[in-house]
Amino acid sequence: MDFETMDKTYVLHTYARNYVNFKHGINATLFDDKGRDYIDFTSGIGVVSVGHGNQRLADAISDQARHLIHTSNLYMIEPQAKLAQKIHELTGFDVAVFFGNSGAEANEGAIKLARKYGEKRFANKRYKVLTLEHSFHGRTITTVKATGQESFHKTAFAPYPEGFSYTKAIADLYNSIDDETVAVMLELVQGEGGVKAFPKEEIQALAAFLKTKEILLIIDEVQSGVFRSGEFLATTLYEIEPDIITLAKGLAGGVPIGAVITKHKDIFEAGDHGSTFGGNFLSTRAGLEALAILEEYKQSGMLDEALIYFDAKLKATCQAFPSLFESVEGLGLMRGLRCKSGDILAGMIKKAFEEGVLVLKAGQNTLRFLPPLTISKEEMNEGFKRLERACKALG
Ligand SMILES: *Cc1c(COP(=O)(O)O)cnc(C)c1O
Repeated sequence: MDFETMDKTYVLHTYARNYVNFKHGINATLFDDKGRDYIDFTSGIGVVSVGHGNQRLADAISDQARHLIHTSNLYMIEPQAKLAQKIHELTGFDVAVFFGNSGAEANEGAIKLARKYGEKRFANKRYKVLTLEHSFHGRTITTVKATGQESFHKTAFAPYPEGFSYTKAIADLYNSIDDETVAVMLELVQGEGGVKAFPKEEIQALAAFLKTKEILLIIDEVQSGVFRSGEFLATTLYEIEPDIITLAKGLAGGVPIGAVITKHKDIFEAGDHGSTFGGNFLSTRAGLEALAILEEYKQSGMLDEALIYFDAKLKATCQAFPSLFESVEGLGLMRGLRCKSGDILAGMIKKAFEEGVLVLKAGQNTLRFLPPLTISKEEMNEGFKRLERACKALG
């Protein structure tokens, strides 16, 4: 039985898969079983932040695996404490951290924290969470309901938990707030929804308003966090101080991890929340190493250089093919090329793959780029050269 047949027979069909068999990778380059190479502008959907085959990360993981992988949260976990301390330091806020295993789980934890805050702090129970259209917060029953895209709320999975609603724009949020609203949850740059960065003033005005109402601001930085924006948090660029921030994707360079970060340290008590795997030796040691690598990369100036170089390449591509693209979106290394139609987007992804460059879809018509943060200039040059060939084939 070949691997494609094996996959189709034994793995549940929840993905429209591409049947390529990757064998290894070096930074932003992947190699398949036929020896073909691909420039990876996806980094496993924003996960492989320090690149494929990163030696330092591999060494840290294998060293940790030889000592301890897991003991449970019944006992102290040294790298977990160190990673929480590191995250505290990098945010610049007086925060503490809970570790889970994914973005959806981090958002679930954030929602639980917000609801307990709503129970503890007010005479009437506040429990409603407001989100935005085109948002994406995860695939569990609760986070899919929090996701502001009707197409995700399939009736097959109903009933969904109560207390979630979304509005079209930030300006509409204000009218949706009532005395049962406990939190507003949003991405500063909507990833899955189309790589849309919100204006700074609009976010700052909302943050200030919510503070006066004692409503929590939850910023979902599962995709935009961990230096993807150029800063450890996109929150820093927006100059706000959220009540809760969630991280996941790039935090441990590919080892599953999620984090709920909050300044409300007195809400959860022992027994309120937990996770068997969350924050174990393996994932937090990987997180520590990934952050050490990325922090050095940022301090050396190389991350900022990569951002500028990628931006120039993206803009040149947009300008060179006006029949295909209408705008450049996003920030840092979380970028998009808005296509003139959904058909162009579908064609681009297919042609790009044939030319040996991996790109993503976002929303209805956005070609999305989430390269490893450590991508080299040579890899960017080669990736955009291949992308240009794909554009020519289409346009
Ligand atoms: C990917 C993503 C999630 C979900 O993360 P999982 O690890 O797939 O559960 C949540 N929010 C945002 C903004 C994301 O990009």
